[in-house]
Amino acid sequence: MADGAVVVVVEDDPNIADLVDMYLRKDGYRVYQAADGRTGLDRIRDHNPDLVVLDVGLPGDLDGLDICRRLRAESDIPILMLTARDTEIDRVLGLELGADDYVTKPFSPRELVARVRAILRRAHGPTETRAILAAGDVEVDTGRREVRVDGEPVALAAREFDLLRHFAANCGLALSRQQLLDGVWGHDWVGDERTVDVHVRQLRKKLGDALPLTTVWGVGYRLD
Ligand code: CA
Repeated sequence: MADGAVVVVVEDDPNIADLVDMYLRKDGYRVYQAADGRTGLDRIRDHNPDLVVLDVGLPGDLDGLDICRRLRAESDIPILMLTARDTEIDRVLGLELGADDYVTKPFSPRELVARVRAILRRAHGPTETRAILAAGDVEVDTGRREVRVDGEPVALAAREFDLLRHFAANCGLALSRQQLLDGVWGHDWVGDERTVDVHVRQLRKKLGDALPLTTVWGVGYRLD
């Protein structure tokens, strides 16, 4: 099913690491483990994985946030973060880090595997025909996966881009958080609707007044 996709798991708790490892292998992934940040970076550079599962709290001089930042600076490799606290979620998904997704401990290994599958399906999805969607002063170039405001490119995390593209493709329609989760995160997503709000907040922060996105009270959001 996973066609031998390679996953590096960076997690210092051996029980969690082994559990994640076991479930991913059962689903057909090849898994490499690392218990601290330095080893994690080495494993990632050695094995060029399809996805990284990354714990936020790691021993040593590099924690999960440092690694995420470093990886993002050099590639768009999919990253699934393991967080211990809800308060970390904003940072993890946020502007500076841009992880693709997260699960909060304690999590079910089944849920984690479902997330991994969903992220990889998106990452390896069929290439779309190029289209440029426009809303207000924002242009969404689906072929180049680029967003421009007044012609200037704006850097978005992968999921922020997917969300904006979904809004742009459904311009003028009020979309509920659940519809957005289904459309952007996929039907097997098991997270909560707050995820949508976190990403919308990031889009607003990055695109500012150029983004004609309205909060529809009691429903969700509408791009005009
Ligand atoms: Ca840890």
